[in-house]
Amino acid sequence: MVTAARARWTNWGGTHSCSPTRIGSPTTEEEIADILRSAADRGEHVKVIGSGHSFSDIGCTDGCMIRLDNYNKVLDVDRDAQTITAQAGITILEVSDALAHFGLAMENMGDVGYQTISGAISTATHGTGERLRNISSQVVALSLVTASGEVIRCSAEHETETFKAAQVSLGALGVLSTVTLRCVPAYNVHSMQEPRRIDELLDRFDEHCARNDHFEFFWFPHTEWAQAITNTRTQDPPPAKQRRTGVGAYVNDILLENHAFGMIQRAAQVRRQWIPGLASITARTMSRKEMTDRSDRIFANTRLVRFAEMEYAVPRSELIPAVRDIRDMIQRQGLLISFPVEVRAVAPDDIPLSPACGRETGYIAVHVYHKFEYEPYFREVEAIMNAHDGRPHWGKLHFQTAATLRPRYPMWDRFIAVRNRLDGNRMFGNAYLERVLGGGTH
Ligand SMILES: Cc1cc2nc3c(=O)[nH]c(=O)nc-3n(C[C@H](O)[C@H](O)[C@H](O)COP(=O)(O)OP(=O)(O)OC[C@H]3O[C@@H](n4cnc5c(N)ncnc54)[C@H](O)[C@@H]3O)c2cc1C
Repeated sequence: MVTAARARWTNWGGTHSCSPTRIGSPTTEEEIADILRSAADRGEHVKVIGSGHSFSDIGCTDGCMIRLDNYNKVLDVDRDAQTITAQAGITILEVSDALAHFGLAMENMGDVGYQTISGAISTATHGTGERLRNISSQVVALSLVTASGEVIRCSAEHETETFKAAQVSLGALGVLSTVTLRCVPAYNVHSMQEPRRIDELLDRFDEHCARNDHFEFFWFPHTEWAQAITNTRTQDPPPAKQRRTGVGAYVNDILLENHAFGMIQRAAQVRRQWIPGLASITARTMSRKEMTDRSDRIFANTRLVRFAEMEYAVPRSELIPAVRDIRDMIQRQGLLISFPVEVRAVAPDDIPLSPACGRETGYIAVHVYHKFEYEPYFREVEAIMNAHDGRPHWGKLHFQTAATLRPRYPMWDRFIAVRNRLDGNRMFGNAYLERVLGGGTH
């Protein structure tokens, strides 16, 4: 079903917005194909949007927007094969809930679970864990509705080239209609969060990653402190003490921290010069917390304070030198940064446009409160990332172009060949894709 667009669309971070000519909310694969055929007749661009959690303008369109809110059902869970097949508009939280009923879980996930599975796949959304790959790597089969309305069903064995490209496609190839994910037996996660000295974390990051399933930290610029998060996969139930107190105390702590953090950002807005002092207060409000719960409930956090974000994947060997460079740069430039820097590790994969393609990867994310300008800080960080062979997260802010990106991806041309074959007329194009993949038709 297609309705005339009523409102301007804006992404979660408030960094980008657009005014689609119409909005389609299909309920079947046939309706998706119909929308595409009609758009082709009108010569209009089409863009599917997920939960709008990308910070870049990757989801913006001057044409028809497709929302998959009504195309979000679980189609099959195969307990023996440990797979789930779902319509592409389902969110990660919904996938996790469905899997839990069958004693299964997602292999790994990122910091939140509001994203649609197709949005997460399309931008190579990842969590942390040096032996664990991103969400795109968990895909074993998918269906893609192309510009002509044809449906391609592909997997590692069938239509391989299309499959590899569609595992991280930036939405440039067509509409993902269904996806099948490889899952794992359900597991709990024991999570330990504690403030630690940044120097110790930088010196021993590799050791922490090697010893733990999941390790990451959030460093607070202008302070010597970071919040370290160590997550351990377990089949153990929550300890007796936690069962007595329930999850309430932990959830309250997280909410309180969110609210305190929000107040600190608003104070920083009053006077930027207060930021270093406020950062010390923020670092001190971080407490030691311990919790065991179902994996997705530990991984998926609440984010009440809006922000803009840039994130880069660098070779693991470059990760800590790059963090040190950012630390020096903030000091040298006298920048006032009120949000933490997040540092994670991810296993390599073999997907052409995955930022972790072909190399052990470390991720560094920088954030800015949504009321502050991000460009001066992000440009400085990007210059550092360029020097460390960085590849940007496709769903987060960056200033790269096809010319600067192509040399960083060994299988770049394979992706472009699939794009030219499936969307030669660039029906799925927009300003972002023109910038990062190159414009024009083949
Ligand atoms: C608070 C917050 C926390 C985050 N945490 C993490 C994290 O821990 N790790 C991480 O890697 N990223 C993280 N992100 C980034 C986020 O995971 C990605 O930007 C992801 O793409 C968002 O999913 P979405 O459903 O909102 O997709 P959207 O932003 O709506 O869309 C992203 C792209 O996917 C395309 N797309 C969506 N659905 C389809 C489809 N069916 N077919 C074809 N193309 C499609 C869109 O056209 C667009 O190009 C976070 C973002 C926020 C706001």
